[in-house]
Amino acid sequence: MEEATRNGATLELLAPLSGWVLPLAEVPDPVFAQGLAGDGVAIDPTSETLLAPCDGEVQLAGGNRHALTLRTAAGDLLLHVGIDTVRMDGRGFTLRVAQGERVRAGQPLLDFDLAAVARGAASAITPVLLGGEGAAAIRERASGRVVQAGEVLMRVALAQPGAVAAGAQAVSLAGAAAPLAEQRRYRVEFDHGLHARPAAQLAAALKGLEVEARVRSNGREASARSTVGLMALGVAAGDVVAISVAGHDASAAWAALDSLLQPVADGDELAGATAPAPKSAAPTPAAGSCLTGVIASRGLAEGVAVVLAQRGPAAAAARRSAQSPVAEQARLSEAIAKVNDHLAAMAGRQDRAAQDVIGAHRALLADDELRSQAAQSIAAGSSAAVAWSSALAAAGEALAALRDARMAERRADLQDIERQVLRALAGERLDEVAMLPGHAIVIAHELLPSQLLALDAAKLAGVCMAAGGASSHVAILAAGRGLPMIVGVGETLLGIANGTPLLLDAEAGELVVAPPPAQRERHAGRRARRAARQATDRDAASQPAVTTDGHRIRVWCNLGKQAEAAPAVAAGAEGCGLLRTEFLFLDRRQAPTVAEQLAEYQGIADALAGRPLTIRTLDAGGDKPIAYLPQAHEDNPALGLRGLRTSLARPDLLAAQLEAIVAVRPAGQCRVLLPMVTDLADVRAVRIALEPIARAAGQAVPALGVMIETPAAALLAGQLCREVEFLSIGSNDLSQYTLAMDRQHPQLAARLNGLHPAVLRLVARVAEAARASGRELGLCGGLASDPLAVPLLVGLGLDELSVAPAMIPAIKGQVRRLSRVACEALAAEALELVDAPAVRAHVRAWLGEE
Ligand code: PEP
Ligand code: MG
Repeated sequence: MEEATRNGATLELLAPLSGWVLPLAEVPDPVFAQGLAGDGVAIDPTSETLLAPCDGEVQLAGGNRHALTLRTAAGDLLLHVGIDTVRMDGRGFTLRVAQGERVRAGQPLLDFDLAAVARGAASAITPVLLGGEGAAAIRERASGRVVQAGEVLMRVALAQPGAVAAGAQAVSLAGAAAPLAEQRRYRVEFDHGLHARPAAQLAAALKGLEVEARVRSNGREASARSTVGLMALGVAAGDVVAISVAGHDASAAWAALDSLLQPVADGDELAGATAPAPKSAAPTPAAGSCLTGVIASRGLAEGVAVVLAQRGPAAAAARRSAQSPVAEQARLSEAIAKVNDHLAAMAGRQDRAAQDVIGAHRALLADDELRSQAAQSIAAGSSAAVAWSSALAAAGEALAALRDARMAERRADLQDIERQVLRALAGERLDEVAMLPGHAIVIAHELLPSQLLALDAAKLAGVCMAAGGASSHVAILAAGRGLPMIVGVGETLLGIANGTPLLLDAEAGELVVAPPPAQRERHAGRRARRAARQATDRDAASQPAVTTDGHRIRVWCNLGKQAEAAPAVAAGAEGCGLLRTEFLFLDRRQAPTVAEQLAEYQGIADALAGRPLTIRTLDAGGDKPIAYLPQAHEDNPALGLRGLRTSLARPDLLAAQLEAIVAVRPAGQCRVLLPMVTDLADVRAVRIALEPIARAAGQAVPALGVMIETPAAALLAGQLCREVEFLSIGSNDLSQYTLAMDRQHPQLAARLNGLHPAVLRLVARVAEAARASGRELGLCGGLASDPLAVPLLVGLGLDELSVAPAMIPAIKGQVRRLSRVACEALAAEALELVDAPAVRAHVRAWLGEE
């Protein structure tokens, strides 16, 4: 697949479909032909999968599946499959992306049935248009020829390379807009809502008028001049929208709007403040079928499906029309206070993980920025509910723009406090516990933390989510309660009917629907063995992990903050194999000083009470953007300035970090670990910086180690061993780079697996190099926390496993049940298998687990 590239101020847009390219003037629809919806070309398609022409963020046009907008660096890019396709009502179209998802050039966006489009729509001709405020100018375009999907279709001039064009603000939020002079309400009576054509007509009606006009609906706002922005509002037929107009030609604008839309009285309901969750069209999975997802909290469960309805949050609150700004502000403040009190009261009854999450939610409720955004919105005429939703949506979009999966997962927290405040506004009780049948396995699109906390814990056996991420707060809550959970299963999950018997295997990331009796029996046996094993492992957690044939494996912990260190030691950690320092100062706008860093490192060293502390230098860039370290846009950040490369580009930051590490007492407790190393040049550059710092402090140079995260480092491990004291394999990145699968890619998540023989072969090679040179070798990626991977890692010759603190007892226990000699034979067999599922099945059978 070709990647779109930016050359200076030019962005290449790839053809989203194969087919004949024609100029817009030849499109059989006046709205497109006259350029009212934007500038571009059209394709008469021969392929049936629509690809992203460049990187961008998906904006779905309400319930429509045939058209979507990408927010791109060049403005809003509208991809509209067929002409008059709206009348097909989504039949024959399968979306492969979700609202707000960030996509890469060439990524499939939707599949469609070309024959069905040819039958059901006026034409299959597909306009590809740049529109909206500030859209970039098209410099070159293909026309009158055949293109293949993925080849360059257009080149556009970017006003400011790397900057998000003003068009990206076409769908902005109510709180962000300046108060406008006058607001009126209209009912949208077009058959299919504000789809492409009516949206273009609306925009065209205001052309040439000197006004600023904005349309608000579903808790979002768009310029009335932006066809793509209007489409992304998701306005359905019959919805009421609020339109604000200011400017010299306001009366002409109102007249134009009156001619297109139906004016309504002021008290009429606005469309919901929060877009409802998409209806599931997923077919019911067959009995005995096995759905796969990503493990968010390990465990096994048998139970019945309880499908959680995805109703819009507190619709009544959202629909209430605005009273005076003073009254709306008072209602909002009261609702926020009510939620805060409820959370404070609940925190006392929760475990530590839940208390942390609740604390984070209370901090969001107190956030000045959110409150002042909502206040601005109220001052501009919004109801408390619409204003609160708008402020939260703006914050959510800002997080999504960071392109960091962990940050994007924090969006669920924003949705959660949005929902709770809307419930309070609607007068709903916040302390209600949802009733469940016994052994409930809750099925949801995405469960929010407060929704999980409101479920009857005594009846809850497990959770499966169609979306969501493994490091979200709801996953942390589940892990804290030992509740098995898998996430990212996909829409198929939502086809499961209430009451369906289920087997959840959150050790393998599998959900079996209506299992046959023999499978249920085997699962029950596994659960019983697991429970017995857990009890034994917990009792022995503080003991060393020694194999049955006498090899000791050090089981250390991975840490991201000071508060985790003492509980990790209590759980049996013998040291810290990875301190992710990039997480210590995430909310900072300025780089931490040497003293600030030292205070953090010293706190963690003290909590470890003399146990080794491996401090990784800043692993910024790529999927971990750091606010105090702004980086230029990169087309391919995973292959760009990340990890050690960022530190070497900022020697001042590296020096400050090394100085702080050298100053930790007692001297010698800390080791320095370098992320994303490619070859010896990286190690030498750091040594040149480190040695004078240690000399100046009158200290010995701390042990220096490298992470093996790139195939280059794995292949050159023998050379690296000559100049470092230890190695630590970062299996998360090593898998990403070996398998060429983006670790953030939602569709590849289930296949990105360190058990793949290609990854294991590199691990074997590194272990061989470490053994030959007598260097210590650990593994600190997610693979070390997978009990099923442990026999392989022991067999391949790892001395140290650095794991998630909660997994320490289980990993130690697993080591104790193994013989290293037997593991060596197993590992040799695994290297010959063809893929990760084959390895997993082989190890399971070897362990006697079916
Ligand atoms: C890894 O890549 O395996 C690793 C431990 O580093 P991180 O997950 O922080 O990138
Ligand atoms: Mg890594």
